[in-house]
Amino acid sequence: MSRKMLTDFSKTFGELRQQGLYKSERILTSPQGPEITTKAGETVLNFCANNYLGLSNSRDIIQAAQDSMDAWGYGLSSVRFICGTQALHKELEAEVSAFLGTEDAILYAACFDANAGLFEPLLGEADALISDELNHASIIDGVRLCKAKRFRYSHSDMADLERCLKESADARYRVIATDGVFSMDGDIAKLSNITTLAARYDALVMVDDSHATGYIGNTGRGTPEYHGVTGRIDIITTTFGKALGGASGGVTAGRKEIIEMLRQRSRPYLFSNTLPPAVAGATFKALAMLKTSGTLIQSVKDNAKYFRKMMTDAGFDIKPGDTAIVPVMLYDETKAVAMADRLLKEGVYVIGFCYPVVPKGRARIRVQLSAAHKKENIDFAVSKFVKTGREMGII
Ligand SMILES: *Cc1c(COP(=O)(O)O)cnc(C)c1O
Repeated sequence: MSRKMLTDFSKTFGELRQQGLYKSERILTSPQGPEITTKAGETVLNFCANNYLGLSNSRDIIQAAQDSMDAWGYGLSSVRFICGTQALHKELEAEVSAFLGTEDAILYAACFDANAGLFEPLLGEADALISDELNHASIIDGVRLCKAKRFRYSHSDMADLERCLKESADARYRVIATDGVFSMDGDIAKLSNITTLAARYDALVMVDDSHATGYIGNTGRGTPEYHGVTGRIDIITTTFGKALGGASGGVTAGRKEIIEMLRQRSRPYLFSNTLPPAVAGATFKALAMLKTSGTLIQSVKDNAKYFRKMMTDAGFDIKPGDTAIVPVMLYDETKAVAMADRLLKEGVYVIGFCYPVVPKGRARIRVQLSAAHKKENIDFAVSKFVKTGREMGII
């Protein structure tokens, strides 16, 4: 056996470590929540989970998952089209579709799979895919897997999107693909402009609302609700692994002919196992809780607003926005990493993001708020930001 690959890999790991890009995992010894304990024995406040509604360890969600296992079993040991579709899965598809205001929906093991399996069945060589440059990796992979001609526009730049639409004029079908909420800046796609351009140039619109479903918009239906364009988005993909309980699972919702084609041809759907009943049942419960409790959505919004205001008043450079993703801009890469390290020692778990995850010179600490944070948690985090910010000469 040649060991060249293995020694080359070891060299790469050394280089990654030197560049500060090596990813190591912090091991939790508690459930996910606003407060977590780690293997190092620390108890820290957690401001870096996608637990927007605080449902990851909710008693109601856990109970729903347990009830669902009792009623439907643990696993299906099958893909959907062989013997893996239960009434539960059909009910969840109908429920998600109704929630998102679409015609139909199809479940996947994850939103990554939903995106990876979306374009290839719909588009061929004669078609065009027009994509925001900051789209999520799973959309990019989905684009790579399909034969359509690719066009990329500068982030949220509508003039550049229009250029792509003009350049792709001879395509048979065209799809514009965008994240609903972009995870690094926490900004929302300009769906009013995008749907207007799509109508003018006869293109379909696909939105990945993973960072939005459950809490963006008045009733948590996501960025189409936020922009008042529900019904004008042809395809929505999203995850159950963030606001809606945080376990796993994804879905594509949209026009019924599109969903029907995905059921026939989408490879991650056809060749990967059915969503476990516990996850399906708990997701059902999360959607039900959204309908009956206005306070869940309001809490995460209030928390994000409060944190933004406190941090801005303290003199930090906060990217303005309407989401629970709050980038604290530091610009300098070493400062971002050093500050996140210090904050962790002070009991606040946040992550510094540097090049190549964000552009060079745009380093930041990304803070994510949850409905489960209490006001005193946020006050504590802000006080620690202020302490370390002063010590480091940032404010
Ligand atoms: C998190 C995320 C995904 C992946 O979702 P999973 O269900 O965890 O695979 C896809 N797209 C976007 C925009 C995301 O933020």
